[in-house]
Amino acid sequence: VIEKETLGFQAEVKQLLHLMIHSLYSNKEIFLRELISNASDAADKLRFEAINNGALFENDPDLKITVTFDKDARTITISDNGIGMSRDEAIAHLGTIAKSGTKEFFSRLSGDQQKDAALIGQFGVGFYSGFIVADEITVETRRAGLPADQGVRWESGGQGDFTVENIDKPARGTDITLHLREGEEDFLSSWRLKSIIRKYSDHISLPILMQKEEWDAEKKENVIQDELETVNQASALWTRSKSDITPEQYVEFYKHVSHDFEAPLAYTHNRVEGRSEYTQLLYVPARAPFDLWDRNKRGGIRLYVKRVFIMDDAEQLMPVYLRFVKGVIDSADLPLNVSREILQESRDVRVIREGSTKRVLGLLEELANGDEQEQKDKYATFWKEFGQVLKEGIGEDQGNKERIAKLLRFASTHNDSDAQTVSFTDYIGRMKEGQDKIYYVAADNTTAARNSPHLEIFRKKGVEVLLMTDRVDEWMLSFLHDVDGKELVSVAKGDLDLGKMEDETEKKKHEETETQYKDLVEKMKTALSDKAKDVRITFRLTESPACLVADEHELSSNLLRMLKAAGQ
Ligand code: ADP
Ligand code: MG
Repeated sequence: VIEKETLGFQAEVKQLLHLMIHSLYSNKEIFLRELISNASDAADKLRFEAINNGALFENDPDLKITVTFDKDARTITISDNGIGMSRDEAIAHLGTIAKSGTKEFFSRLSGDQQKDAALIGQFGVGFYSGFIVADEITVETRRAGLPADQGVRWESGGQGDFTVENIDKPARGTDITLHLREGEEDFLSSWRLKSIIRKYSDHISLPILMQKEEWDAEKKENVIQDELETVNQASALWTRSKSDITPEQYVEFYKHVSHDFEAPLAYTHNRVEGRSEYTQLLYVPARAPFDLWDRNKRGGIRLYVKRVFIMDDAEQLMPVYLRFVKGVIDSADLPLNVSREILQESRDVRVIREGSTKRVLGLLEELANGDEQEQKDKYATFWKEFGQVLKEGIGEDQGNKERIAKLLRFASTHNDSDAQTVSFTDYIGRMKEGQDKIYYVAADNTTAARNSPHLEIFRKKGVEVLLMTDRVDEWMLSFLHDVDGKELVSVAKGDLDLGKMEDETEKKKHEETETQYKDLVEKMKTALSDKAKDVRITFRLTESPACLVADEHELSSNLLRMLKAAGQ
């Protein structure tokens, strides 16, 4: 028998606890949402493991969550009969933060409470949010399948450490008891707890039970009964029909699946029937997660098969460039014992991924092309947060390239702003008489782009040029050669043919000049033979005497620099 031991929290947990207690006081009630969300996840995990091992149900198959409180002891207890935790799991899950990118996240905190409070919401506070209202938390848990004497009691005051000891726990699952801080007595009320549950956790598919309260004529007050009643609707949100779901319920469900505090930008909910049968409820977040660029980051889609939870990071269900999408996909076709390997090969999964991709692109198009200011603002937000990732789709998703291209936004010489607001459609609508190409300039930043000598002739002719200043732009452009039949051309590449925009007399003059300076050009070519491939007379420049250009078929200097920086 292992004795009771005292262990220290991981440094990041201490930081999180400190920050949370001091920054989330105006939003205290979310602790209940977080703990119920964990109880629901624990039930999902049990159901999943029980697919291959029915004995885990231990003759207690009706999964549920119970919330009780004790006015005298000043405690609230959230109980579930889900998967539970072993001693090692309790130590690992309730003493550290397992999320990828945690260290990096904490190193970015500024110390400014308001700014950090917004960040922390994005990070997700989870179990530790109990300490917003409690100065002591007791967790009693036993993992499904382990004997009754392998129960565990975990206890902490939320300072620097916690204790764990073995206990007898006949009932499988987890009881979390919060010992409320001074001043938090408000929560010791059926009415208050029920209204919080209805507000935040109505979409949870398990019943959430509380004790009934009935009027006692003698005592002339409400008296708590032994009998339990279900407080929520207890049906999985995505299975309900759209007309039965309020916008608030959609938002709360999003917070549950995404661990995000903010409302999403947009969502799409559909039941697909036919060749493949599935339900999708997909959300676009309002803000990029702190680990958007983390290569080990898990996907945001929870996979269910006929309402049974299968996995919460099913990356095969979304292409990589839509990795920011969160939500649920519930398939009627996949087998319950589907594994990651099967997912990779499955035709059904491919159909779902293609269908879901089209839905998300459609959702983005609705925002991008919407007439209402609200939609425009939302798309601007989306572009600022996720535009860089969407650009990856140009290379990754050949089939939807045209649609994705229409969603792209750029800075441009059309205005003086550095904001990326100009679409290819805008650009094409403003093309000059006789112009048949889309011109762009690639540079490290917009100042460099605007000062490029290559732009001189375009400015003179009043031709708009798109400014490509993001790291992924040139990589992206290597996959995107035209939009709506208009070729994309770098102003810095090769022999610039302004086509019909040049008039005849101008062309004649150019030819004359070329003959006139032929000898000089030849001399310069010889002199620079080891430095330049070619020397040409140019009519592009109106102020600068000379400039370097890349060969038509060569990598541009900017892309070369980028590849070098990436170590290639
Ligand atoms: P998250 O839910 O995002 O993983 P939390 O801080 O909410 O983060 O919970 C941390 C971990 O603790 C969970 O992932 C889970 O492994 C474990 N856990 C928390 N509550 C329960 C519970 N009621 N039953 C079983 N495991 C739990
Ligand atoms: Mg959680």
